[in-house]
Formats: sequence, structure tokens, C-alpha cells
Amino acid sequence: MSIIKKIIYTSKFIKLFKNIMAAFIIVVSSFAMTASVCASLADWQLPADISPLQIDLPKVELSSEFYFLGEKIEFKNKPYIATGRIYLPLSETVSAFGGEYSEDSYGVNIKLNNSEFYISKQNDDSFPKRFLTVNSQEYISMFSLLENSVYEPVFYSIQNKVEIWYSGDGCVKSSLADGDKHSAYLRLEDIMADGIDPLGYYDDIGLEKLRAISDYLYKNSQKFYIAWIPLYKNPSSNIENSLTKNFNLYNASFLYTLDYLVKNGGKIGIHGYTHQYGNEKSADGYEFDSKMPFSDIECINRMLEAKKVARDLGYEVSFFEFPHYGATSDTLRYAEKYYDVIYQQECSVKSKGYIVDWTRANGKKIKYVPTPADYILNIYDVDNMKARIDNCLNTNQIVSLFYHPRIDFQVMYIKNENNVRTCYVPDNSAVYRIVEKVLSKNLSFNYF
Ligand SMILES: [Zn+2]
Repeated sequence: MSIIKKIIYTSKFIKLFKNIMAAFIIVVSSFAMTASVCASLADWQLPADISPLQIDLPKVELSSEFYFLGEKIEFKNKPYIATGRIYLPLSETVSAFGGEYSEDSYGVNIKLNNSEFYISKQNDDSFPKRFLTVNSQEYISMFSLLENSVYEPVFYSIQNKVEIWYSGDGCVKSSLADGDKHSAYLRLEDIMADGIDPLGYYDDIGLEKLRAISDYLYKNSQKFYIAWIPLYKNPSSNIENSLTKNFNLYNASFLYTLDYLVKNGGKIGIHGYTHQYGNEKSADGYEFDSKMPFSDIECINRMLEAKKVARDLGYEVSFFEFPHYGATSDTLRYAEKYYDVIYQQECSVKSKGYIVDWTRANGKKIKYVPTPADYILNIYDVDNMKARIDNCLNTNQIVSLFYHPRIDFQVMYIKNENNVRTCYVPDNSAVYRIVEKVLSKNLSFNYF
């Protein structure tokens, strides 16, 4: 072989070697990329579900002032917040209300304003408790006391006071409410403790209106679901409002409202942990879609953290709903592991518009509940929603929809006259008109 030939062969060999190396690097680096993008966890790698044991949240003294029918109550024993709820000293409160009580080892009999009711002490070991003892003083939860009475609280978080007035009735019962009807489904969307943010909807007045909407639904025998965002965040204003860490009057009024909604037939579900990522505020952003900045384990931890908040506040969780229905096949699979009901359309075309029950390979049963009637965009969109309800019926899909109660706030109003507090749900509100529509079709909002 001539020298020239040898040089040519050698350079060809170097070129070939370089190409092989380049190809090898591409293969290795693309494998590494695939590994980092698709680091989804197999079923057997998923962390265990949360333990059912509740954390006993700290008890803190509440400095707020309380007024009964305009008169300030001078408590010797300060009210407390425990499990995020307000507890009032039993003896002092009943006497400030002009009532009396007697107790035995089973419970407390209370006489207030010509009404008499008994609050049991039996089975009072699950949160939130009806009674509490602090420094050998007996306390009663404000919710337990008022839910049986003719009174209701009005919260003033900024002024740090609570006023108690007679409760007026601002809801009209529909004449169509009774009788056997087929099921429809209603979800109250994006319920969150955002009232500490000036941009929030659920301030004291918003929460009062939300309670009145639930009164309207209850009065008309309409069941509903509550899509709750457990942790409200607005990073650009540096706000993160934890209901299990920040014990103040606003958060207590939010939990009073959630308890009230549950009492009125609402079932709570987890609607993300914060319903945002990055700089977005809660309810604006996605959380578990393909663009989420979280690793898979971080995503799973958020699903579990949300459940822990519900557990520590004593709420039963009825479903999981992805923010804006944004999910990937992996995040869906994770949600299926930790929740029994996913409130969105199941992916297969065959199931469009239907509730789907299926069993995973490991035996876990999952229910998917879609909302083919979509949602009421604003108060002017009610006629469109009525048309969508008709369309669901005409196409044999379930009548299932969601609605942001805040869209009704602009037409609702509150009066405080002669010691009576009344929050009205007028007949031009979205909730009123949609319930009327559903009842007129021989349907009734129910549980699935
Ligand atoms: Zn949402």
C-alpha cells in the first residue's frame, strides 16, 4: 500500500470512527432526554396512600370581638380556634344569648329564644368536634350552636369581629321541587379561601352569599358537589393561605362556610392542590397538565397533600377534579390510585357524555363523571346553558354541569333590618334559573 493510499484509508477510518461516536452520543443523549421527560412511575413505584390518622391542629386563642343583636359579649374565657373552627365558652355564650342550658353525660340541652335543642356529646371524637374543653372550661363549636338556632353569624374579618343576628330567609322554594325525578349533577366550582387577597371573590360577603346559595339548593332538595382548592396561592402578591397553618377569623369563616355547605347537602372534592403553578394565582392556572414543572413524585405529593388538608380538617373527599381538566395519561393514572372518582370525561369516545365505572387491572374501582353541559360562563349565559341541558337530553347524555357561584354575587343582595339578617337569592340569579330549568325537565340535582 502506498503512503497516499494509507493516508486516505486512515482518514476514512477516522471519519468512520467520528461518525460512529457522533451516532453513539446522539443515542445516549436522546436516551437520557427520554429518561428525564418520561420518568413516569410504574404502579408498583407509587407511594402509599396517606394514613387516615388526623393531625390534631393547634388550638389558638381568638382575639375577635363578638356581638349578639348589637350588644358586645364580654367573654371572661376567650373564644378559641381548634381544627380551624371557632369555639365559644358554653356557659357564657348561652347566657349572653339570653338562654339557658342543662347537661348530662350524653349531651347538652339548650333553650334559646323559645326554641329548645339537644346537642349530643356521643361520638364526638371525629373532627370537627362539637365540644371542646380548654383549661377545664367547656366550649361549644359556634357552628353546632348556631346550626340549631334561629341565629346566624356575620363575619367581619378585617375589623376582627363577629355579629350574631336573627337569620332571615331570602330563598324561595320552587313549586316544582318535590316528586320523583331523574338525576342531574351540579358542581360548585373553584371554591377557595381567597378572601384575604384583594383580588379574591370569597371575602366575608362572598362567603355569606355562598352560604345563601347553598340554602337555596337545600330548600329545593338539590344536592351538589363542591370543587375545593385546599391551598390558595397568589405568588405575585406573596400570598399563600394555608387553612391548616393560619388560624385567623377569615379562615375560620371560610371553614364555617364549608361546614355549612356540607350540612346543606354539598359533597367536597379536591380540585387540585393549588390549581396553579409558577406565578399564576389559584384557579387561573393548570397544575397537572403536560407542561407542569413538577417531577412525577412532586405531582403525586401534591395530590396527597391536598388529601391531607381535607383529612386534618375533617372533610370526607368525594372526588378529584383536575384543574381545567388538564391531565396526562400518567397524572390521570396517579389520580386513579389515590381517588375513587375523577370528575371529567373518560377518554374513550364510546363513553362520551356518560358516567363510566371501570376496574383497574389491580382491582381498584374508578368512576369517571363528565360535565357534557359544560359551565355557566356568566349571568348572561344562563339561556345558553338551558339550551345545552336540552341538547344533553336530546342526545342521551347526562345532564351534568358546573358553575362558579361568584357569578351570582352581582344580583344577590343582603338586608339587615330589625335584627334580622337576610341574604337574597333572586329569581334572576343563575342558580335559581338553572334549578327551575332542571326541575321543569323532571330532573333533580343529585349525587352520582
Ligand atoms: Zn377550576
